[in-house]
Amino acid sequence: MKKTGFTTTALNVGFAKPDPHNSLQMPLYETVAFEFDSTEKMEANFKGEYIAHVYSRTSNPTVEYFELKLKALTGSHAVLAVSSGMAAIADSILAVTKSGENIISGSRLFGHTYALFQDTLADLGIETRFSELTDAAEIENLIDTKTRAIYFETVTNPQLDIADIEMLTGVAKKHNLILIADSTMTPPNVFNAGSFGVNIEVVSTTKYISGGATSFGGAIIDHGNYDWKLNPNFSKYTEKFGKNALIAKLRKNIYRNTGGSMTPQTAKMMIQGLDILELRVEKCYKNCLQLGAFFESNPKIKRVDYPGLKADFRFQLTEKYFNGIPGTIMTFDLESKEACFAFMNRLQIIRRATNLNDNKTLIIHPYSTIYAEFSENERKTAGIRDTMMRLSVGIENVEDLIADIERAIE
Ligand SMILES: *Cc1c(COP(=O)(O)O)cnc(C)c1O
Repeated sequence: MKKTGFTTTALNVGFAKPDPHNSLQMPLYETVAFEFDSTEKMEANFKGEYIAHVYSRTSNPTVEYFELKLKALTGSHAVLAVSSGMAAIADSILAVTKSGENIISGSRLFGHTYALFQDTLADLGIETRFSELTDAAEIENLIDTKTRAIYFETVTNPQLDIADIEMLTGVAKKHNLILIADSTMTPPNVFNAGSFGVNIEVVSTTKYISGGATSFGGAIIDHGNYDWKLNPNFSKYTEKFGKNALIAKLRKNIYRNTGGSMTPQTAKMMIQGLDILELRVEKCYKNCLQLGAFFESNPKIKRVDYPGLKADFRFQLTEKYFNGIPGTIMTFDLESKEACFAFMNRLQIIRRATNLNDNKTLIIHPYSTIYAEFSENERKTAGIRDTMMRLSVGIENVEDLIADIERAIE
């Protein structure tokens, strides 16, 4: 059969086992343990010869269905759902490196990812070498025999820089490194990570996928395009599990032993989120374009940044990698910090909150919040202006958003 579109696929992914009642929705398996028919089967399971759900920290039918759905929608080799975006990032790095080794990472990162690399992993002896990731020669200079991976975010927040994915794939391949992308900003209906050579995709499903900021979750997506024999940390797994070495190491070691599992209740919400992901993202994107046109035409708006706008200097990269949709976060500037604060305080529909990709439109002044602890110089290096506000654009009727902004700007 011809490959179906994103939403058709989302709605028609089959269950791992037929439902005894032919339920159209994956039921919520709110249980910890699963029983065996016989002691022999139990023994076979523990030997790895008979696969079944045993205990929900390691696997659960509702969580498994979320994984199957995301696997189908990303065209990937395997997916592991975890408790949060941070768990996905931490588990992935712990699987590919160990003490005494290093990774190379973009320097403009989600704040807690930066803290994980700089503090938590550093204390465990895993070094992160930061780079702007714009120059192949500079990255190659950072690589040594202990380097295991290159880590980047597809679109940085709030700068909205777009990664040079083709260049990064080239460097990673040349040095046998694992290329890991945090694609949270660019959901699977706009970005096909595997087709651009990304090996491991990590996602905070808390954002777009949860379906409106209902629940926390994360996913580790293996695109099946890396030979795990090239990384010494998989030697115990490649012989027995071959192509499944990453997932096997996670399921039998890192993920299982650190306990950051997705709950079945959360998986149920994530499944519903995936069903309507494309609809929501397309609506948010249309709103971004209309807000962008409004910002461009209003003299009080000093600057607007959204790589999905034709006038934006990143528009071509947006077309190349993200089918024209670089996520649905935009920034805009007023003349001063005071003007931003007064504007934000007058808003009645747009909410002052720090999350991304809620169904509601959210606004924040990054300089005084997310970057509050940064020095003036660090803010400058990070491209954070005190005149800038970040909008996470939701699915409201756009005329109401524009009216809210017009009222607040006067
Ligand atoms: C939110 C976010 C994370 C962390 O995800 P949680 O689900 O909050 O743990 C990681 N990366 C990016 C780009 C994010 O936006």
